[in-house]
Amino acid sequence: MAILKVARMGHPVLRQKCETIDPALITGPEVQGLIRDMFETMVEYNGVGLAAPQVHQPVRLLIAGGEVDDEGRNQFRVLINPEVTVQDENNRLGMYEGCLSLPGMRGWVERPASIKITAWNEKGEKIDFSLEGFPAVVIQHECDHLDGILYVDRIEDTTKFAFEDEAQRFLDLADQDMDEEEEPAG
Ligand code: ZN
Repeated sequence: MAILKVARMGHPVLRQKCETIDPALITGPEVQGLIRDMFETMVEYNGVGLAAPQVHQPVRLLIAGGEVDDEGRNQFRVLINPEVTVQDENNRLGMYEGCLSLPGMRGWVERPASIKITAWNEKGEKIDFSLEGFPAVVIQHECDHLDGILYVDRIEDTTKFAFEDEAQRFLDLADQDMDEEEEPAG
């Protein structure tokens, strides 16, 4: 296990389209080791998600949180080669997003609130599921990383892009269409 260095905005690995992972290799030591190291790295930096290019691995693998189980524990999904389908383009959710590759920054982004996902999980099984609200936003943020897109590319009003401490003073970071207190950083 290892805590990996997180690439920051400006590093070209964050701007490339990542390679598909051969599903036959998911249960092999290389992919499993990367998943373990990404978990450790995400926990170390209090991320709610992490995509492989953020740790300098340009492959289509991500970890996404934002879901809680019945006992209130955070749940994380490992998704490999994920494909997102938007359920309703007009149903949108806005929030101040953060990203471990842009430490200390927040920006207002609006995304579809309801999505369907197909992917492979960490056991090499094909899965599909639907998500709404905050966890749907987290997965879209992480999937963007796999295509070299950062949340800043989706900020329409740059007056709502700020350093986190100033945003806490002058912008309402909790200003989102949901009762989610967690501040997303992935
Ligand atoms: Zn991110």
